[in-house]
This record gives sequence, structure tokens and C-alpha cells, in this order.
Amino acid sequence: MSAPYAEVIGDPIKHSKSPLIHGFWLKALGLSGDYRRTHVKPDDLGAFIAERRDDANWRGCNVTIPHKLAVMEHVEDPGDVRGTIGAMNTVVLQPDGTLIGTNTDAAGFYAPLAELDLEGAPVVVVGAGGAARAVLFALARAKIGPVTILGRSPLKAMGLLATFGLKGDVVALDAPLPPAALLVNASSLGMTGQPPLDLDLSPLADDAIVYDLVYAPLRTGLLAAAESRGLDTVDGLDMLIGQAALAFELFFGKTPPEGRDEELRALLTA
Ligand code: NAP
Repeated sequence: MSAPYAEVIGDPIKHSKSPLIHGFWLKALGLSGDYRRTHVKPDDLGAFIAERRDDANWRGCNVTIPHKLAVMEHVEDPGDVRGTIGAMNTVVLQPDGTLIGTNTDAAGFYAPLAELDLEGAPVVVVGAGGAARAVLFALARAKIGPVTILGRSPLKAMGLLATFGLKGDVVALDAPLPPAALLVNASSLGMTGQPPLDLDLSPLADDAIVYDLVYAPLRTGLLAAAESRGLDTVDGLDMLIGQAALAFELFFGKTPPEGRDEELRALLTA
């Protein structure tokens, strides 16, 4: 029998950093296994899943754009991801042949904040897309205080507040910020090729944290502005590595090696 493998699927898929991350951990742990990158077009998703579930070496896959919603039709959902975050990024083949779908983005996002007490804290979130759903799901579980969502689609943002039982406001991108303790950019603004995210950070609390999910570029204009205001920052690689770590454990049954994150970050930014 050949080695177990997992993979990331999407359309396009060339840009994915997941093979680098999982490959680094497989090698570091000396595990025989493989993590691939597979181009799957939307019309081929059902056939892909049907073929893989009969492959004895396949452990599962990470799922990226545009399959995060469509994949929910093909898997079991014991954690009610469909009814909460509403998108899946990981599919795991169980030893009994059951295919389970889950979402490791919310926990990956929250990992760098886990030591903080965010209960009751006012928070700003930019964006109301898929990543914002995972962010708000995680923050609602941390019992945060009022949330201000900044974005260009107010109805979508209001729907998210209601979905996650959060109190707060929805405002335009150029509205003044409240004195929040945490600001999260969960939009595409600031990504290479996208418009910048220009916010006046002066109203934020002096000990506020600014967290940008964007990881290309890694040091976004938002993080640079936060640093020059003396605020603590978290960049998008923390979440990327955090969500991958949970998936790695599900696929290969081992936790990633400890104390190797700096090496991995250097590899990902080389
Ligand atoms: P998405 O579902 O397409 O959502 C993008 C959000 O950005 C939407 O709310 C969209 O507004 C908003 N937006 C896009 N262009 C805009 C513009 N010109 N002006 C105002 N708002 C704009 O994408 P996603 O999956 O949530 O990803 C969002 C970002 O998070 C991306 O940069 C992605 O790389 C990053 N991300 C990082 C990680 C990580 O592990 N670090 C994980 C997931 C995502 P509308 O709602 O109006 O469309």
C-alpha cells in the first residue's frame, strides 16, 4: 500500500500555500505521506469527491475558492457547519468511509487571540464575506461586546450580526472608527491587486490589536499604520498556519511540530 495523502482543491489553485505548509510538517515529523495541489473545476466537484472516497490512501482535502459552499452538498455535517459558519474548508475521510466536512478557519483565526479575554470587548470587523463569517463565529463564541462591521454591503453585514447573535452596527468604510479593542480586516482590501484599506486608526483604544487576514502582501498598509500608532498586530500567516495545523491533525493524526513556526514563516515568505 502506498503512503497516505491529502490535498487542496480549488479553481484556480496554483497560488495555494497549503502544500508548502503541510509538506514542511510532514518532512519535519518524518512522516511518509504527501499533500498535493489539485485543480478541480466547479462542474467536476461531485465526480472528484466520488472518485476520492474510494481511494484507500486518501485522507481528505482542504477546499478553497470556489468550492467552500458547494462541497457542503457532498459531505456529512455533524458539527452543523452549514447552519453556523456556512462554509467548509476541510473534508476528512473517516475510517468507516464517512466523509465529514468541517471548517478550521474560525479556530485558526482565533488561535493567536486565545490568551486574551475578549468578553464584552468592542470589536471592528471589515468585510462581510466568507472569512468574516468565520471571524464573527469565533468572536461570538468569545462573547465579545458590540461589533461594528465596516463594508460596502450593509444588508449582508446586518445578516451576519443576526446570524451570530451579535449586537452592533453596520457602517460605511469611511465612517469614523469606535474606540475598539480589536480591529480585524476580513475583506480583500489591501490584498495585492485590490484597493488599499485606508482607515484612521486614531480612535482605537491605546492597547488595541489590529489583525489583518490578508497575507499577500504580509505587511499590509493597515498593519504598517497600526505599528506606527504603536498598536500590536497579527498578520494573515498566523491564521493560515493555524487553520492548516488543525487540518493536518485531522488528515495525518499528528499535531504539527512545535517551535518551527518561524522557519515555516520564512519558507512561506521566501
Ligand atoms: P470573499 O468572501 O470574497 O469576501 C471579500 C469581502 O471583501 C466581501 O465582504 C467584499 O465585499 C469585500 N470587498 C472586496 N472588495 C472590496 C472593495 N473594493 N470595497 C469594499 N469591500 C470589498 O473573500 P474571503 O474568502 O472572505 O476573503 C477575504 C480576505 O481574507 C482575502 O484577502 C483572503 O485572502 C483573506 N483570508 C485569509 C485567510 C487566512 O488564513 N489568513 C483565510 C481566509 C481568507 P462584499 O461583501 O460587498 O462583496
